[in-house]
Amino acid sequence: MMTEIQTETTEVQTTRGKVYVIDRGQTRLRAGQGLLTGLEVVFRHFRDALTRKLEKPSQQTGVFTVQYPEERLKLPEAFRNFPILLYDDETGQELCTSCFQCQRICPPQVIHMTQARDPATGKPVPAVAEFLIEYDACMSCGLCAEVCPFDAIKMDHEFEYSTDVHGGLTLNKEALNRPISYYEKIAPTFWAEVKDSAMKKLQGNMKRRPDLIGVAPQMVEKIRAKRAEAAAQAPAPAPATTEAAPADKAARLAAARARAAEKAVEAAPEPATDSAPTDKAARLAAIRAANAAKKSEGAAEAAAPATDSAPADKAARLAAIRAANAAKKAAAQRDGSEE
Ligand code: SF4
Ligand code: SF4
Repeated sequence: MMTEIQTETTEVQTTRGKVYVIDRGQTRLRAGQGLLTGLEVVFRHFRDALTRKLEKPSQQTGVFTVQYPEERLKLPEAFRNFPILLYDDETGQELCTSCFQCQRICPPQVIHMTQARDPATGKPVPAVAEFLIEYDACMSCGLCAEVCPFDAIKMDHEFEYSTDVHGGLTLNKEALNRPISYYEKIAPTFWAEVKDSAMKKLQGNMKRRPDLIGVAPQMVEKIRAKRAEAAAQAPAPAPATTEAAPADKAARLAAARARAAEKAVEAAPEPATDSAPTDKAARLAAIRAANAAKKSEGAAEAAAPATDSAPADKAARLAAIRAANAAKKAAAQRDGSEE
């Protein structure tokens, strides 16, 4: 029924390259014949669809509509829409160091940022205080992500930003921030390639950030709560032995000296006819004992304010008693030698 249109294709070499010339001959379609030819194709596909001839997707050809938003195509990793900033899931630390490279390279100049400063010294630190991107003027070129030496800025797959509030398309740091796990999910291969170097650089930068500077705003409260929990679970500080230690040591030293003085007195030879050396030794022992007693008293006093000063205090009292005994003995010996 249908008239087959005869065409002939020939290659012609021209000075500017090869061209194809299609000769349709002298065939002329009759009125309405083109319409009928088209309808034949439609009915053929309709029949095939009804008779389930096209069961496998591989058998399907042509353009098929995705029932968006119920159906969505899986986006390739390299798909890019607008930039986002990354922060570490655990520590909440942002990867951005405020190096300004993305701001400089951005063709439409839609990136704006301020560098963070140490509140104590006022000096700049490798962290960003505020970061703005005007999504409504961003051209999704991805240059900012390419140039970033810290892998802090990446191109997102999200594209549903339709709004009637123009200002709502200027996003601040909090709105731009995404955890690393999010990016790892949408671009696993890309992240795996840079993960090690990015995390190493982050560790280095974290050391130069005081307290919560550089922590993503949405993570600040979580980090504070974690710290409080860790502090509550930490073992109670050791008894204040550190403060009492010097006093305790002094007390032990004084006690040792007192004991030595006591021994010296005990070991002193019996009064001889010439009592001078004994007398001298006894006086020396008495002086040492008195000094030891004084020191031990001082040590005991120093140890007193400490919360757990009992051992030092005891040692000091013991030293004082020994020193007093030594002094008494020395005095008795001296008296005996004088007699
Ligand atoms: S994607 Fe391009 S235009 Fe958009 S912020 Fe990055 S550098 Fe600027
Ligand atoms: S996002 Fe990257 S390039 Fe931009 S300021 Fe931060 S560290 Fe530098």
